[in-house]
Amino acid sequence: MIRWLFNLWAAHHRYRTEWVEDLPDGLSKETVYIVGGRKYPFQATVVCPRRACKQVIHLDLSPDVEQQWHIEEHGGGEISLHPSIHVTGLSCNCHYWLRHGTIRWSETPKLRVPRENRRDP
Ligand SMILES: [Zn+2]
Repeated sequence: MIRWLFNLWAAHHRYRTEWVEDLPDGLSKETVYIVGGRKYPFQATVVCPRRACKQVIHLDLSPDVEQQWHIEEHGGGEISLHPSIHVTGLSCNCHYWLRHGTIRWSETPKLRVPRENRRDP
């Protein structure tokens, strides 16, 4: 239920994109910061979208790292990031996609195991 409400909220929630040379001091939860500007965007920074969470997430965009994110800018200026964003930490374990400037929560994969394959405890 809470997830459903959050998805409803997220569907109407749009992230603004800011192309910056350096990260500003106070980060907004509604903004995706592309650090390095349009010339050399090397990092995307977002604050975890979960309500009570303040974790700052840095995603590497430069091509010379192992885990590289790709950024795609759309006509309205909103962006998509590939692959998904997975935040882990003490209080946070959220997994979402940023698509056209909106959050799409990733559902936790459910593994269905046939009864005969379940091991008795
Ligand atoms: Zn979080």
